[in-house]
Amino acid sequence: MASEFLNDLFNAGILIPLGEDGVYGRSAVFEAVVEGLTAAALRSGKDQKAEKLRFPPATTFAGLKKSGYLESFPQLAGTVHCFCGNDRDHRALLQCIGEDDDSWTAKQQVSGVALTPAACYPVYPVMAKRGVVPEQGYVVDAFSYCFRHEPSIDPMRMQLFRMQEFIRIGTPEQVETFRNMWMKRGQDYVASLQLPYEVDVANDPFFGRGGQIMADAQREQKLKFELLIPVNPDKLSACLSFNYHMDHFGEIYEMHTADGQRAHTACVGFGLERLTLAMLKHHGFDLDAWPGEVQNFLWPNGRE
Ligand code: AMP
Ligand code: ZN
Repeated sequence: MASEFLNDLFNAGILIPLGEDGVYGRSAVFEAVVEGLTAAALRSGKDQKAEKLRFPPATTFAGLKKSGYLESFPQLAGTVHCFCGNDRDHRALLQCIGEDDDSWTAKQQVSGVALTPAACYPVYPVMAKRGVVPEQGYVVDAFSYCFRHEPSIDPMRMQLFRMQEFIRIGTPEQVETFRNMWMKRGQDYVASLQLPYEVDVANDPFFGRGGQIMADAQREQKLKFELLIPVNPDKLSACLSFNYHMDHFGEIYEMHTADGQRAHTACVGFGLERLTLAMLKHHGFDLDAWPGEVQNFLWPNGRE
């Protein structure tokens, strides 16, 4: 059963149910907001002269393994499996259509492709391959549909959603300065959207009992902050994340700065689906009725 807000979105045709929790179609209204939010996020970061990199919403299975994602978040990962057989196998496969899903999937093999869990993941190995990080470090702008296997009737928790990220790679000082700056800019951004918010320290959903230790350490060291917005009753939802990975990716990808130290990395992620839903919740489904300043902030040249 869908939540009340999700039902309202379905009834208004803003999200389109497809029969799987967290996987939805989007209407023109929804997309207009996503596009406005993405463009506004890019404008807030314009002075950084970020290098724009785009990747498909899937990466390689080998790449996902190397990133350490499967150790930390096996419950969220999505890998692509495909039929790789011959004619005879195909005949057997056809028998399975109409039967239970297990007999079909048993005839598939893992492919070299895995779904992207966060827009920044494909960026680190690509930058590492360039060699020693230049003195000024890197700032990258990445955008992607991301997949996380966390089906839910809460529209704020989707399985496929988009993220606009800025990624900083460099010395610890460069990376910390970047994160602090974005924590301030993220709040200015959400204030311009005229949304209520608070910022708090957070942790990632590391898997299992061992994961709890990782989550506690992450909180203790204040490595992750989230900007939270009330959308559901009695619960705040993280709409922006400010992550400092220290030398986690620098170590995995053997990425070094000019002084021979391991590169540090940080990223700021704008959750575009969540921000869009927060806007629809707080300002209503009629975009023309939104406050004039908010419309100007999102669509300075008017809406398409
Ligand atoms: P994270 O990498 O977990 O910090 O996620 C970055 C941002 O993506 C979060 O701040 C959320 O806004 C958004 N996000 C994460 N998980 C989901 C989800 N399941 N559905 C929609 N948005 C999400
Ligand atoms: Zn990231």
